[in-house]
Amino acid sequence: MLRAMPAWPLIRSTLTWINGSSLAAILICAVTRTRLTRAPGGVLVAHGYRLKVPKQSCFTVGTVVFTKRPAEWLLDPKRAELLRHETRHVAQYAVLGPVFFLAYAAASGWSYLLTGAYGSRNFFERHAGLAAGGYRELPLRPWAARFTRRAASSASHPPDGTPSPH
Ligand SMILES: [Zn+2]
Repeated sequence: MLRAMPAWPLIRSTLTWINGSSLAAILICAVTRTRLTRAPGGVLVAHGYRLKVPKQSCFTVGTVVFTKRPAEWLLDPKRAELLRHETRHVAQYAVLGPVFFLAYAAASGWSYLLTGAYGSRNFFERHAGLAAGGYRELPLRPWAARFTRRAASSASHPPDGTPSPH
């Protein structure tokens, strides 16, 4: 709903500047010597990122999308889905500010616990779009699958006192 408002991109990136998450991004830019290019909606692309961590080709901090590729690669219409995915992370930073780092780490840990991968059950990656971000929907580990099956089957039993259809 908020995303449909024309002012939302401006509000979103302004919030990331106020809450400090975009300042953290500018520091990372300075340390890693990446260069900034403007993208639509107040988003900036930091291109030429060279560190090995994280291993994804793109990641977002505040309103800045870092990429190991040239900016043109990310801004190519063929990568619109990926840019939209990263832009959703900008919105997450707008809402959570620096708390995002902790919340994201917790969500990654939770996903790893359930599936053995950091993205699949990570709330933030699911909200941004798993496939668009290059993540796969993975099956739950056996213990987690057993647990959710049991929870689902106990929820599907009608509560005591429900009138029978006959
Ligand atoms: Zn993502």
